[in-house]
Amino acid sequence: MIENAVEKYKNKERSPHVITDAGDYLLCPICANEYMAHETIEVFDHHEGNKQETHITISEGKMSSDHDLSGNPSGKRNGLKISFKCENCKRSSVLKIAQQEGLTYMAFEV
Ligand SMILES: [Zn+2]
Repeated sequence: MIENAVEKYKNKERSPHVITDAGDYLLCPICANEYMAHETIEVFDHHEGNKQETHITISEGKMSSDHDLSGNPSGKRNGLKISFKCENCKRSSVLKIAQQEGLTYMAFEV
């Protein structure tokens, strides 16, 4: 969960890492390869006090939406999840971007 990652970021442990190389390419969190293909993208629109919350999923050329924010990496704000498949190790990972108390956190889930 991103809450655990947030605590690790606060404690400077920063695990799992979001790593870029000198060219600012995102690297696979498993094997550090720079070639990763985007797969599913999820957007969570959530603001405290809003009556309407939205979850949009885009995958394989199709878009769907609902109001289920159970997968939102941010507890009280907007969140993003981008799934990747590494072209080298063939493993999947999810980059989670969450906002908490005005700060933006990024962490990989593998
Ligand atoms: Zn990899």
